[in-house]
Amino acid sequence: MSGEIPFDNTYGTLPERFFTRQPPAPVAQPSMISVNRDLASELGINADWLASDAGLSVLAGNSVPEGADPLAQVYAGHQFGGWSPQLGDGRAVLLGEVVDRAGQRRDIQLKGAGRTPYSRGGDGRAWLGPVLREYIVSEAMHALGIPTTRALAAVQTGEPVLRETSLPGAVLTRVAASHIRVGTFQYFAARQDAEALGLLYEHVVARHYPQAGSPLELLDCVIAAQAELIARWMSVGFIHGVMNTDNMTISGETIDYGPCAFMDSYDPDMVFSSIDQFGRYAYSKQPEIAVWNLAQFASCLLPLMGESKAAITQATAAVHRFPQIYQDARDAIFRRKIGLSNPRPGDEALVQRFLDGLTNSGADFTNAFRGLSVDNIPDGLEDWGKDWRTRRDLETDDPYKTMTRTNPAFIPRNHRIEAAISSAVEGDLAPFYTLNSVLARPYQDQPNHDAFSASPTPGEVVKQTFCGT
Ligand code: AMP
Ligand code: MG
Repeated sequence: MSGEIPFDNTYGTLPERFFTRQPPAPVAQPSMISVNRDLASELGINADWLASDAGLSVLAGNSVPEGADPLAQVYAGHQFGGWSPQLGDGRAVLLGEVVDRAGQRRDIQLKGAGRTPYSRGGDGRAWLGPVLREYIVSEAMHALGIPTTRALAAVQTGEPVLRETSLPGAVLTRVAASHIRVGTFQYFAARQDAEALGLLYEHVVARHYPQAGSPLELLDCVIAAQAELIARWMSVGFIHGVMNTDNMTISGETIDYGPCAFMDSYDPDMVFSSIDQFGRYAYSKQPEIAVWNLAQFASCLLPLMGESKAAITQATAAVHRFPQIYQDARDAIFRRKIGLSNPRPGDEALVQRFLDGLTNSGADFTNAFRGLSVDNIPDGLEDWGKDWRTRRDLETDDPYKTMTRTNPAFIPRNHRIEAAISSAVEGDLAPFYTLNSVLARPYQDQPNHDAFSASPTPGEVVKQTFCGT
């Protein structure tokens, strides 16, 4: 019988200095938390098999499925602006790649699969909290229509993981267009390994941007993908929290759901991450940080561009185009958030006045926008409301349709995620399942689940989030 997972691996054909081959480390007593059946079928994997004991054994790292080529990828990166020459999959193992039903190549990776040569001091494991968090938030992002890595499954290991206390261990199966990061390029650029850079470049072009005919064109593609991605983050109040260069994909998918959070009340300076002392990765800083990261990527490509003065000028110009590409994408989404699909002069100012009103009143970002689609204007914005109605009446498209498709009713709110995790630690997974099912249809009103759209009460507000280790 051929394998249950239709592997078709390419990363493993790159030279050995790109990774370390090694299987996941087995765990004591695996049990299933969740299998993402829709995603399984998208990948050409039988969901019943994946949910079976044989599937569980694979998802826990206890058996290596036929056709897999398990390996840990190496990369480097700037973490909070400081250079780390050697990072890598310290708690993850890539099982292999599949070509999905739509013809797209996808990585299947076990996260929390044990120590690797890149673990540094870490134990290579994950506890239940970050695994559920990544499952909930990455699937919610997908449902919101925002490019992201996905969660194929989560399992418990039956082993404790030692953090500040002893916590239940878990493994997440992550699916990604690839796990290649800005930091992957940086790893080889820092070692002046032009041969590896060239091979990585070819791999990335074939895999993600076949339209790119040169390193400069690849740079343009990645800049455009990241500008679009970050505009979308901003449109739903998403704060990534740890936009290090090793957490920025070349594919343009959101990756690494560590201390990320969706903001409740609108505050452009909002920071949740416990380790982001200086607000480097605050909500409103994300576009600037993307430019910083993309400048690092651009400099990695220079050896492939001849390192001439002309190459430097071209690469710099490409990076400098980011702010405009971002602004255009961002403006288009925010116009739609107030129901405007056909731009007119003055629209951006109208959006800004609304946001300023939210800043002043501390209104809930998500609900203030969703409210507009039922003509509900936040307190203090009545004058704005008059101007908005006048402008809205000039629209030919139905502004209400535009708004309900752009303004989610449901986002993964921090207090709901925390509640789902606390219950799961106590052995009750029901809140986790309910939350996932509500978040699967974020743009639909779900009258039975109104509570999930409510902003937190003062006692429920989550002020800080933590890294996913
Ligand atoms: P992250 O904060 O998830 O971006 O991870 C930063 C680096 O730390 C990466 O090289 C990870 O592989 C590594 N790392 C994070 N958690 C662990 C862990 N529990 N064990 C080993 N390595 C880890
Ligand atoms: Mg990371």
